[in-house]
Amino acid sequence: MDEIDERLINKCINLRHDIHKYPEISGCETETKNRLISFISENTHLKIQDMGKWFYAVYESGKKVPGILFRAELDAVAIQETGSPQYKSLVPGVGHLCGHDGHQAALAAAAVEIDRTGANQDVYFLFQHAEETGEGARECAELLEDKSIGQVYGFHNQPGCEYKTVMIRKEGTAHYASKGIIIQFKGRATHAATPEKGLNSAFPLSELVTRVNDWNNLDSYIGDVLCTVVGINAGGRIFGMQASDGELCLTVRSCFQEDMNKLQERIMEDVKFTADKYSMEFNISYCDEFPVTEVSEVCSKILEDVCKKENVKFNYIENPDRASDDFGWYTMNTAGTVFYIGDGTTCPELHSSNFDFPDGLISFIAKLIVAIAKHT
Ligand SMILES: [Zn+2]
Ligand SMILES: [Zn+2]
Repeated sequence: MDEIDERLINKCINLRHDIHKYPEISGCETETKNRLISFISENTHLKIQDMGKWFYAVYESGKKVPGILFRAELDAVAIQETGSPQYKSLVPGVGHLCGHDGHQAALAAAAVEIDRTGANQDVYFLFQHAEETGEGARECAELLEDKSIGQVYGFHNQPGCEYKTVMIRKEGTAHYASKGIIIQFKGRATHAATPEKGLNSAFPLSELVTRVNDWNNLDSYIGDVLCTVVGINAGGRIFGMQASDGELCLTVRSCFQEDMNKLQERIMEDVKFTADKYSMEFNISYCDEFPVTEVSEVCSKILEDVCKKENVKFNYIENPDRASDDFGWYTMNTAGTVFYIGDGTTCPELHSSNFDFPDGLISFIAKLIVAIAKHT
């Protein structure tokens, strides 16, 4: 494939630097969105649809075949940038320290290139809000069904890995499912001298904590399951009062969605049993839900073919990532994959205060996106 025009890449590098200066946290990416909409409308004829918190641009091929979608994220993180690029963040306490500014610039470059050279299917360029909180993908995923999209691709830069190397899971789980669980017991307050008159949540809570190991090792699981205690709270430093209300917060993860359901059922049974034992009322609620990100072998193979054709270094990742990713909302009902691009071994970790996306990856990623879109 031809190199992308250098003037376009320089424009996209400047676009990244502008966005980098004015980072916005999850759910508040209005200026970032507007900047990208302006850039794409000034540089392409693509149809742009502003969806409020997010937007997409589409290349319409006029062909009645399923479309293809590429996702970039709009949000920055609430961390003060300590590096000193010329385009350093001007917003105190907020920085583009996950490289989403680079993802946006690469996707914008690919949009301009596809507009110029065409494709045999509709190509959607999705700029999604709130990736860091897991809120955005859930809202944007509707687009896949509305537009009969057949394939969906996500990508992320990856520090600590060889520069311009592509990494991908071949098939199955790429990222575990995860969920937050909040278990609350309703206690009854009483003087510390008369514990028999009260209801103390510390007892059922501590019993449940001792079950965590059992929950992680049920015979019925088909894959790896991990439940972690992230918080426990009952009573306080008031020595005349017995603890009453209390809560236990867990994060649960699983390699397979079915196991998540089994784990949840088992936790529910044990909570009910323990609540009965101590005659206490309880409540269970859930938050921060991420489904399994399951990648399609067909899409991973397309990426492999593209990398071989473009002479790009390519590796399959052996094990899924225990950390979850919001991309699972897209791959739940649509074939897709997510690939990682090495930032180089000396690049600071994602979310570290001196991280900065390597500009050299903008044309590299844009070329890959264009090649994938033209592959079919
Ligand atoms: Zn990120
Ligand atoms: Zn991040």
